[in-house]
Amino acid sequence: MPKKIDILGVTVDSITMKEAVNQIERYMDERKGVLIATANAEMIMCATHDHELKDILNGAALVVPDGAGTVWAARHLGHEMPERVAGFDLAQQLMKKAPAHHRRVFFFGSAPGVAEKAKAKAEKLYPGIEIVGTRNGYFSEADEPQIVEEIRTAKPDLLLCALGVPKQEKWLKKHLVELEVPVSIGVGGTFDVMAGVMKRAPRWMQKAKLEWLFRGMMQPKRAGRLMALPKFVFKVHACKHDHNH
Ligand code: UDP
Repeated sequence: MPKKIDILGVTVDSITMKEAVNQIERYMDERKGVLIATANAEMIMCATHDHELKDILNGAALVVPDGAGTVWAARHLGHEMPERVAGFDLAQQLMKKAPAHHRRVFFFGSAPGVAEKAKAKAEKLYPGIEIVGTRNGYFSEADEPQIVEEIRTAKPDLLLCALGVPKQEKWLKKHLVELEVPVSIGVGGTFDVMAGVMKRAPRWMQKAKLEWLFRGMMQPKRAGRLMALPKFVFKVHACKHDHNH
């Protein structure tokens, strides 16, 4: 089992992309019904004041280090953190492997039409993939039993859920047992990127660890959320200082 690292009270797994993919494949074989989260700095910051989210993350089967901020924090606190495991890339790796293992995948979330476009893209990228259902992420509480039923009867092995943080984690936790899906992952903006609604940062920006800046620039409404990163860096610094004294 991978090592868990505490970052501001959230336990993140010290794990490579390859290890994460293999572990998730095992979870699909075991069919236990687990929740997986991809923790970037914004999510960890959110969990520092949202205890429900924090508890969900700390009870998750796997929390992968999504984002340069999470990797930096782990290393800054003196732990080994091999690499970044971005949620988008993790989802792609799992879909790439899906046809060979006959894994059934369900896309839940994003604006109407987006999951369908993402499905078409996945079918082009990963020939033979079985996307057994799609459902947009805009609903009221009264719609939830029907959505659960829709997912349950589609019998996916893997549920990708894109409702944004922390809604996706809370929704999955609430319905995990009745969904009867072996593996569920909150994947944020993954369908938006696959559908071409949103752009992923260019490679050079990802390499320069500036993806967060790109996302802030592309979505002015989330510019305020850019402050989460400096706040995160400050908190991790303070936390390290406390430990050393
Ligand atoms: N979304 C959704 N239902 C909601 C709120 C958001 O399906 O009630 C979708 C939204 O359309 C987008 C995805 O959730 O495709 C991720 O949203 P955002 O970028 O705000 O989230 P984060 O970056 O925090 O994961």
